[in-house]
Amino acid sequence: MEKRTFLKLSGIVAAGTIAGCSPLKKAAGVSTMGRFPYTLPALSYGFTDLEPHIDAMTMEIHHDRHHNGYVNKLNNVLEGTPGMQTMNLEQLLATIKPTDTALRNNGGGHWNHSMFWTWLSPKKTQPNERLTQAINQKWGTMEAFQSEFADAAKSVFGSGWAWLCKDAAGNLFITSTPNQDNPLMTKITDKPGTPILGIDVWEHAYYLHYQNKRADYIGAFWKVVNWNRVNELFG
Ligand code: MN
Repeated sequence: MEKRTFLKLSGIVAAGTIAGCSPLKKAAGVSTMGRFPYTLPALSYGFTDLEPHIDAMTMEIHHDRHHNGYVNKLNNVLEGTPGMQTMNLEQLLATIKPTDTALRNNGGGHWNHSMFWTWLSPKKTQPNERLTQAINQKWGTMEAFQSEFADAAKSVFGSGWAWLCKDAAGNLFITSTPNQDNPLMTKITDKPGTPILGIDVWEHAYYLHYQNKRADYIGAFWKVVNWNRVNELFG
């Protein structure tokens, strides 16, 4: 079987599994992605649906190859560490030490991408009143918030993510992490929190369409943010 056909078939199998057990369920707070063995979540929209802001080829390669790679490598690592197989992904992230390189990169990669797909939507959505009030209280205006978030995303040196998080008291803050780290890795990050919005600024997320113009990609990101999801995670 050709690799491409196999990828498509595994995507279909994964989609079937997800319809059954709903790993991205709409719970309050951070969604759980279940436990080992992890599967690649299906997108709730088509690869072409975010165009022209995010192009179809970037979406397909990003989801079917990059994200699928993190899922497979995460499962491979966990095959050899039975003690960690019973944890859910968030529990796993909270136990990862800086030296757990494979778990850190692939556990983070799976969580970050599973969330990222849900933060995008071809439908026009808006922050609700409660979230708007919280943003205005912290940053003054939505534009000021977007500007600080964009600055955090632009300032990531090399590969990483920028995040809008809430802390344990429910207060919002912006942070960024390198590589596939995230603010749920409490033994690694210096600013722990629960991400309610994140942007992938690895070059694989934008280079085909935007080349070196990361700022243009960040500008386009706002056109496809799924605020319904951010509202839900803010709670
Ligand atoms: Mn990525």
